[in-house]
Order: sequence, then C-alpha cells, then structure tokens
Amino acid sequence: MAFDCDVLVIGGGPTGVTLAILLAQRGVKVMVAEKEPDIYPLPRAAHIDHECMRILQEAGAADEVMKTSRCASRYDFLNARGEILLRFEGADRIGPGGWPAANMIHQPSVEAALRRSLAMQGSASLCSEWELTSFDADGEGVTARLAAPGGERLVRARYLVGADGARSPVRKAASITFEDLNFEEPWLVVDVFVDDYARLPTANLQICNPERPTTCVLMGEGRHRWEFMILPGETADQVSDNAFIDRLLEPWKVKGAVRIERTAVYTFRARIAREWRKGRVLLAGDAAHQTPPFAGQGMCSGLRDAANLAWKLAAVVDGNADDRLLDTYQPEREPNVRATIAMAIMMGRMVCTTSKWSAFLRDMKFKLGRMLGKLPAGPPGYPPITEGLIDPGSAAAGSYFPQAIAASGERFDACRGRDYCLLSRADLAGQSVAPFAAQLGAWFDKTGADAVLIRPDHYVFGTGHPEALMQSWNRAISHGPRGGWVDVAHPARGHAG
Ligand SMILES: Cc1cc2nc3c(=O)[nH]c(=O)nc-3n(C[C@H](O)[C@H](O)[C@H](O)COP(=O)(O)OP(=O)(O)OC[C@H]3O[C@@H](n4cnc5c(N)ncnc54)[C@H](O)[C@@H]3O)c2cc1C
Repeated sequence: MAFDCDVLVIGGGPTGVTLAILLAQRGVKVMVAEKEPDIYPLPRAAHIDHECMRILQEAGAADEVMKTSRCASRYDFLNARGEILLRFEGADRIGPGGWPAANMIHQPSVEAALRRSLAMQGSASLCSEWELTSFDADGEGVTARLAAPGGERLVRARYLVGADGARSPVRKAASITFEDLNFEEPWLVVDVFVDDYARLPTANLQICNPERPTTCVLMGEGRHRWEFMILPGETADQVSDNAFIDRLLEPWKVKGAVRIERTAVYTFRARIAREWRKGRVLLAGDAAHQTPPFAGQGMCSGLRDAANLAWKLAAVVDGNADDRLLDTYQPEREPNVRATIAMAIMMGRMVCTTSKWSAFLRDMKFKLGRMLGKLPAGPPGYPPITEGLIDPGSAAAGSYFPQAIAASGERFDACRGRDYCLLSRADLAGQSVAPFAAQLGAWFDKTGADAVLIRPDHYVFGTGHPEALMQSWNRAISHGPRGGWVDVAHPARGHAG
C-alpha cells in the first residue's frame, strides 16, 4: 500500500497542530486527524511562557496570540489572612525565548491562531471528524483505520504521532503504561468575561486558604479565571450549581464586573508515559505526560515536544538522518517534563493544604524563609539536555540558546532560519547578524566559546572550533542518501553569517 503521508498526527489540539505546522514548514507531508468538528471550547491553559511563544513564533502564530494576551508582573501565593508566603516577580520581563516571561492567554484562541497557520501550509491537511479506531504498525510504516463522516478511511503513513490528549487511544493501543507521580486533586474551574477590569486583581494569585484553596489568574481575550479546590465530601454537581459558584465568588466582590462564560470540573493529575516511542509510533503532549496546572506548563510541555520532534522526524523522513535520531526524543524531553511536573506538584501541595495545622506550619516556614531572604524570586530554570543529540564535552552543550532581539524589535530566529545554525564570533560583524551582535557577543563572552552550533529547536549542540563542530554534528546525525542534511555548500541555509 502506498503512503498517503509521511506523518499521521492523531489529535488536532495545540501539540498536534504545532507539530504538523513545524513538519510542513520542513516539506514533510503531514495529515492531522481530529475526532471533533471544532476546537475544544472548554477552559484549559491560561499561561504560556517565553520559550513557547518562541515556538509559536516559528509556527507563525505568535503575533496573533500576543495581540490578545495579557501580562501579570507578579504571581503571589497568599495565606488565609492575605499575607504573602511566596512572590514571583518579573513575569512581564523579556525571557530568554525573546518574549515576555509569562503570558496570560485563552487556549481556544491560541488553537485558532495555530489552525489558521496550519491552513496555509501546502503539505499539511487537517481532517476534522476523523477518529482513529485502530492501527497496525510494521517495519516500514503504520496503517491507521479512522471513522470519518463518509465511512471508514485507511491511512498509510511512515510514522504515527499520538497527540491525542490525556486519554490517548494511541497510547492505549500501543500498550504503553503510565508512571503515576501521585498527585490527584479535583478542582472547579470558572472562566468569566470581564466587563470592568478595574475591579479585578492585576496579579496572578494562589490563595492558600485551608478552608478553600483558590486560584485567581488573568487570561487573554477579555477573560479572567478562578479555580476552586473541591473539598472532601463535595460532588462535581454540587460545586457546579450557579448559587454555589455565586457564593464562591462573593469574597472577590466582582458582581456586575464579570459574566460567567463556562465552568468545568477537572481532576488535576501528574503522570508520565513510560515509553514515548514504540517503533514507528510516538507520543507527544498530554498523551505522553500530564501535570497539575499550578505552574502553567501542560500545553507548554506539548509545544516543546513538538519543537523537539519536528526537525528530527523531518530529517528522518527525508532520508537525511538515521531513524535512531528519534530515540533521542524521550531522553531529551523527559527530564524537562519531570522538572516542570515537580515544580507544579510543589506548588500544588503548598496550595492544596486543607488541614489548618499543616497550613499554620507552612505559613510559619514561608514567613521565616521570606524574612531570611531564602525564598526564590521566580520559578526555577529547567534542566538542560544532558543525554541526546549534543556534543557533551563542550561548554554550554545542551543549554537553551536565548533569542536575541535587535533595537528595531526584529528577533534573531527570523534571521537565522529553520535549520541548525553555526555561528562564530567572526560572524557577528556580518550584515544580517550585526543588529544582534551585542547580545550574541555577551553569550560568547559568558560561555568563553568562539563558535556555537545551535540545533533547529534552539538548544546548543556544542561549542568549539567551527570545522570541528560541523564534523561532530555530521557524525551525530548520520549522513543520509542525499549526502547529509547539513548544507555546507550553501551556508545561508544553516549559517547565520
Ligand atoms: C484547568 C486547566 C488549566 C490549564 N492551564 C494550563 C496553563 O496555564 N498552561 C499550560 O501550558 N497548560 C495548561 N493546561 C494544560 C493544557 O490545557 C493541556 O496540556 C493541553 O491542552 C494539551 O494539549 P494536547 O494537544 O497535547 O492535547 P489536547 O488538547 O487534549 O488535544 C488532544 C486532541 O486529540 C483529539 N483526539 C482524541 N482521541 C482522538 C482519536 N481517537 N482520533 C482523533 N482525534 C482524537 C481530541 O479531540 C483533542 O482535540 C491546563 C489544563 C487544565 C485542565
């Protein structure tokens, strides 16, 4: 059976659509099968970080998302008396990704922007109301059966990616189990339209009140969100009742300032799939891992999966890299996901304390920590890549390469292209790089490197002498039938100078 596409993505959520765009931009023929007719409308992600804005930038959706997103400069954890336990500041400052560190968004609007970009990609198609029912994988590819409006469809692809959410039929069919990280709390989410911003908090808040742990955060597109922990003995039906929600909102004094758009009950969980690749089948996004939302990192982690996987799949499908390149996906991504989940669980345990005595002890501990200046002023950075496609002996290998911004507002990635990028100090004088020279030069000074090879997903492959770096990269990737994907003869493709 001939191939219908190179990559079949199951699931048209943010992970699947981003992956499809990044693949199509690299010339890969990709189909996205989505069982629903439309974008999932229920309230979910409210926050996206600077690194993921950079991924949206590559996917052609960042400017649209920024237009309707909002920034909160502070993220405060308060006790029942309104005293500060922990304060993260600077969320509105530009992060290493070249965008504000934290951006408050409306997930369906982000997904709509991504779908508009997907529609412009010649080699990608989105098949709505196509539901995967089963698949068979063999040595050459995967044959998927899908229930579609006109009847059953068979799709043959070289690779299948399950970006099909937490319940992932792909994960189940591949018999991949979860490691449970032991966090399970039911919460009520209330999203509102805002009529009067002057009466709403301007900071993101976690109210660590043992009587009713509560989250209050900004959102994009004229919305605001509250989340209320469901207490033992309460049912989903009880807390979803309008009168009950009115009582929950009463202390916020927002009657007349907001209108409820939607409410939903979620059980926040922390789980990681044990295998993210089984032969020609891969998992990404919520299908591979789930986190409680306290750090705002679930969707962000899915976008990072897409960025890690896209260039590797493209290189393998093109025949320019060995299929084993895909084995680097999980070892590179999993430590990052574990770190974000650990942070979310730490925040969640701090917030979800319902015993007054434990809350008292927690408050004492944090007050003392604050007095002694021992508490962090922001979320910790995520770990670099330590295992995978990097040149491990060299300085800064596996670290995240920041995006420089020129005085004109132009961002470096727009100038450097989609491929790997070999950049040396000597290149900084070049016409296209000169506007970024100060920030790039500072990076070279900090690392002591003379040249750096940056991977397509903005992680540092290695530093050192340019020629040695190229050789090391070529060796690591493995040359394919078209002579390798590193285009040494045409430096403009991969070389920023
Ligand atoms: C209350 C709440 C708050 C959150 N806050 C944040 C936040 O602030 N920041 C953040 O980054 N994340 C947040 N998240 C997490 C974020 O919403 C998810 O991580 C994100 O939606 C996952 O994207 P995904 O594309 O991997 O999966 P999904 O968005 O679940 O998409 C999966 C898609 O697959 C489709 N599908 C399923 N089965 C099939 C099938 N058999 N055939 C075809 N299609 C199928 C589904 O219809 C769905 O469209 C929050 C989540 C919740 C619940």
